[in-house]
Amino acid sequence: MEPVRQRSPGGPVLAAVPDAPNRAPSRRAFGHSADRRHVVEDEAVAIREAARRVLDGETLSAIVRDWNARGLTTAGGGPWRVNSLSSLLVQPRLVAPPQVLDEDTHNRLIALHASRGKGPRRATRRYLLSGLLRCWRCGGGLRGMPRSRGADLYVCPGPPHGGCSGTAVTADLAEEAVGQMVLDRLDALRPGGAPVDGRDSLRELAAHRGRLDDLGDLWASGQLSREEWLSLKRNVGQRLQVAEAEVARIGRLGALRELAGAGQSLRPQWAKMSVAERRTVVQATLDHVVVLAAEPPRQVFRPERLQPHWLE
Ligand SMILES: [Zn+2]
Repeated sequence: MEPVRQRSPGGPVLAAVPDAPNRAPSRRAFGHSADRRHVVEDEAVAIREAARRVLDGETLSAIVRDWNARGLTTAGGGPWRVNSLSSLLVQPRLVAPPQVLDEDTHNRLIALHASRGKGPRRATRRYLLSGLLRCWRCGGGLRGMPRSRGADLYVCPGPPHGGCSGTAVTADLAEEAVGQMVLDRLDALRPGGAPVDGRDSLRELAAHRGRLDDLGDLWASGQLSREEWLSLKRNVGQRLQVAEAEVARIGRLGALRELAGAGQSLRPQWAKMSVAERRTVVQATLDHVVVLAAEPPRQVFRPERLQPHWLE
């Protein structure tokens, strides 16, 4: 009797077929022939050279520029880009026979690639209005919230983060609206005015800091108990914070005096200015902005939701 060959339908039969239908048709890959049996020598030379240059600290974009200038194209015939070169250099086939790269080089490339982060990373947005927007409901500070789908927002964070999670506003729209308000405000302010003298505040700040040091000395020399020291320190610490805030405010007022009347000249450049530059102008002008509740229709952004509280 012949043994019965047991076979489940599907699986093993499919696996026995060399090219299962769900496998993508093989395309030629840069550095190898289409059947993967041969190295394409001039491409392999380019890969080895690129590997060496990357490990020597050259940027991928410099190599991409060089390759494109030399007329090297991808296997598909297109120009090289940073992403395509970056993924080429870590492909496992480069160390499978017939080998293009030695394993040590390949491992170092993989480590470098991993340290850079995988794939194209989303640039982190810099939030123009961080710390400047406040929730109408709880008074908490709104935070920038990036979203992979839909527009980035400023939101009142949830209760664990000190907010009520009751307010949100689209970041782009809020930034645009506040920018316009700030420029209008600068136009309305007349240049000049009495110079700001921050000397009194600075003196006060120095005095508080000095007192805090003295207290530390008194405690250290045993003239104050730990409890006395802590309670006095708390008291001076609070006054120190107030004095520091006042000095910061005066610094911003000084900047505001210089910017007064500058709205018109800033307006044409505004969109091209960096976030840091725009933020300097915004901070010199605004104390904070209260974000009111969104009313129906919620899809429509109304700049009136943003209530500026000017620095003065
Ligand atoms: Zn809130």
